[in-house]
Amino acid sequence: MTLILQAEHLTKIYGAEHAVKDVSFSLAEKSSTALIGPNGAGKTTTLSMLAGLLNQTTGTISLNGETNPDVRKSIGFLPQYPQFFSWLTALEFTEMAAKLSGMDSKHAKIEAQKTLEFVGLGEALKKKTGTFSGGMKQRLGLAQAIVHKPKLLLLDEPVSALDPVGRREVMDLLKNLQQDMTILYSTHILNDAEEMTDQLLFLRKGELVEQGSLGDVRAKYDSPRYLVEFTSEEDALNFAARAPWKVSYRGTLGLIDITNGLPEMKDLLGYLAGSGLTVRKAERQTASLEEIFLKVAGRR
Ligand code: ATP
Repeated sequence: MTLILQAEHLTKIYGAEHAVKDVSFSLAEKSSTALIGPNGAGKTTTLSMLAGLLNQTTGTISLNGETNPDVRKSIGFLPQYPQFFSWLTALEFTEMAAKLSGMDSKHAKIEAQKTLEFVGLGEALKKKTGTFSGGMKQRLGLAQAIVHKPKLLLLDEPVSALDPVGRREVMDLLKNLQQDMTILYSTHILNDAEEMTDQLLFLRKGELVEQGSLGDVRAKYDSPRYLVEFTSEEDALNFAARAPWKVSYRGTLGLIDITNGLPEMKDLLGYLAGSGLTVRKAERQTASLEEIFLKVAGRR
């Protein structure tokens, strides 16, 4: 596994406040990492330091082993609220971004056009950005971040301003990009983090309180349980009264939780088959990332 970025003891202090406090993590090449945490946790501050837009108070960042990398060439950044010059066309703006990374004019034009087509703005190349909808602006923001094919793509809330269709499309674009780039993105949309993440970084009040793969984090915070749904409340009550496991019930649902030892699914199904109760469904439940988030954020 090749590491592309290493952040060590990153800290940003404003006055008496630690916006980011002693945060260390690394990103493997062509991996995707979701940066999550409540409002004010330090996500934007962390991304801005990595993008070279903000100096850290202390700590080091190294990209490909270099502590003073040429960020314009190797990093692409989509800020949370991208701004454009309203009088430029999408093509002109993206070409300008390409040139800022050091590309010559001829290549900048070719790459800008290809990139705009890739992000779904092929029909709007010559339109002024001032006329763009929110979804189009987000795509244009993505285009300027990837036009120079950076090794590392940093995205601050890339999909939160989009409607469900736009979100789906941008998530698919990002998954496509991950084949060539390392992606670090912050998000509030936990379904997206569940969908595209090799690593999760949880920030809370500036501190990195949890990091690891979704599987590892889930295993740590999950409380496994089965949910059995009956066709009547009476059957659910009977199940709660007679089952050999600790059972709680709500309406027509019976929940078996782990406190008394979780049975094998086959044993549960065997019991239900011989019980004479009418079951609508029986399933193993896993904590959603949202439930885990609430636990890690200290809200539960
Ligand atoms: P959100 O999800 O709301 O975008 P975030 O996780 O991105 O939040 P940051 O914007 O990084 O959080 O802010 C972290 C903390 O640093 C907050 O308490 C914020 O008020 C503080 N902060 C950020 N920028 C500054 C600044 N320029 N001056 C003073 N404090 C700041």
